[in-house]
Amino acid sequence: MNRRGFLRGALASAAAVAAYSPSRGVWAAKPDNDTIDIPDLDGELVLAGSLLDEAADDFGHIISAAPVAVLIPGSIHDIRKLIRFANKHDIKVGGMSMIGNTHSTYGQSQVGGGVVIDMSALCEIHEIGADYAVVDAGVRWVELLQATLPQGKSPPTLTDYIDLSIGGTSSVGGIGGQAFRHGLQVDNVLELQVITGQGKLVTCSPTKHKKLFHAVRAGLGQFAIIVRARVRLVDVPPMARMYHAYYDDLAAMTADQEMVIDDDRFDYVEGFAEPHPGGTGWIYKIELVKYFTPGDEPDDVALTGDLSNNPGTEVVTDMPYFDFANRIAPLVAFLKQIGAWGLPHPWIDMFVPGDVANGFIQGVLDQTTLADTGQGPILIYPFKRAKVTTPFMTLPDGENCYLFSILRTAVPPELAGQLVAKNRAIYEDLRDLGGKRYAISSVPFDQQDWHDHFGDQWWDFAVAKLKYDPKNVLTPGQGIFTW
Ligand SMILES: Cc1cc2nc3c(=O)[nH]c(=O)nc-3n(C[C@H](O)[C@H](O)[C@H](O)COP(=O)(O)OP(=O)(O)OC[C@H]3O[C@@H](n4cnc5c(N)ncnc54)[C@H](O)[C@@H]3O)c2cc1C
Repeated sequence: MNRRGFLRGALASAAAVAAYSPSRGVWAAKPDNDTIDIPDLDGELVLAGSLLDEAADDFGHIISAAPVAVLIPGSIHDIRKLIRFANKHDIKVGGMSMIGNTHSTYGQSQVGGGVVIDMSALCEIHEIGADYAVVDAGVRWVELLQATLPQGKSPPTLTDYIDLSIGGTSSVGGIGGQAFRHGLQVDNVLELQVITGQGKLVTCSPTKHKKLFHAVRAGLGQFAIIVRARVRLVDVPPMARMYHAYYDDLAAMTADQEMVIDDDRFDYVEGFAEPHPGGTGWIYKIELVKYFTPGDEPDDVALTGDLSNNPGTEVVTDMPYFDFANRIAPLVAFLKQIGAWGLPHPWIDMFVPGDVANGFIQGVLDQTTLADTGQGPILIYPFKRAKVTTPFMTLPDGENCYLFSILRTAVPPELAGQLVAKNRAIYEDLRDLGGKRYAISSVPFDQQDWHDHFGDQWWDFAVAKLKYDPKNVLTPGQGIFTW
């Protein structure tokens, strides 16, 4: 069943809102003397049922803030009307991907006591051009890729898991193994249609309403709800060849990663720490991909002959480009089947300055056990800082920057609190070295932390908030502005 079909089913069993009581601050299914009518909507505001439970949860399963209603927009105008209504009556509002639970890990998209907008209801692909696509914000990257690949095109950077919404990753960053060449997904957005915190529908781009465009990408949902995006596409060959090589030494792997991102010989570069087969500590696995057209296969020796572990343990796997891009899907299906998807995920995702990466990452790994990760993956890979041009995508200084992610599963679930505390301690060490937290992480943040996080850009961020969402209606779950 597609999302629209699912939503229709959910609506049949949910109480729709008819009125709002400003004096009591509550929504009501029936109007009375104390209520005012809500605006006419093409879709519906829902007061009860499974959609509200979904909106009070996320992939982290650590924080739960119950909204009082979920808007299923029938059009972008519903969002505009709701935000104007929220401004008038001091109601908090936030967008959420809501596809099988949102993929944030620490309540970032939840709106306790407010209204969650289920962006997955807006899911149309409007246009696929020669080097761009125009899509609703609720479209998932996997759906876009399915539509573009028959024409030999793909978004240039894809997250490891592509069942994420275009509005969601455009609000946070969207990093993957192609980032060293193309930047993050936010750097490949060409134009946005947004509804600001004041309820204005605006089209923004590098040339139109530039400040808004710069604020909204990686703006953590603070300034506007993205309703439609024009995103870059590039030509891609139909096949991908994946190489793996193992290293006992982290510095040896990162040296090879830096060499191959410098000379640009691969199309995708990532790496992992995995449990050492010897029983203690970690080994390091580089993951490299070259795209190709059958008949013009990559030259394996030219590509991997000078890796420092060579000759050794390279594994070559050929697969269609789509299977490569969607490679996490079978694992996700398995995790869902065994119930692990529903366990808490106190993830920590960090951006580490290149010049301290080996020491910092090694230090953290030396203190990390399999019990701390719940067998979840650990990602380590560099990308070029200069390729990331989105102003509020806050990263450390320096030429290269590393993504270092400990994608924990709390087993048993009661461990989640302790793991969040470990994340916080790791974050503090990272911060002191000039590193940054990726905002999707489970790391508690207070006002001072946000101030430190944005550094010199804090005032720009705050001024943009005052300009585009002066009543602080949007996305309270990030905990940035609390007035
Ligand atoms: C298995 C898995 C793998 C992942 N792999 C990667 C990866 O490789 N690289 C990577 O960068 N990330 C990755 N992520 C994280 C992902 O990018 C974030 O979870 C992100 O939040 C996108 O998820 P979402 O579409 O569910 O958005 P949500 O979690 O619903 O939203 C993210 C934030 O954006 C806001 N928001 C949502 N929609 C809109 C909108 N239309 N307009 C304005 N604000 C909006 C929300 O309020 C929230 O603050 C992964 C997550 C999972 C669960």
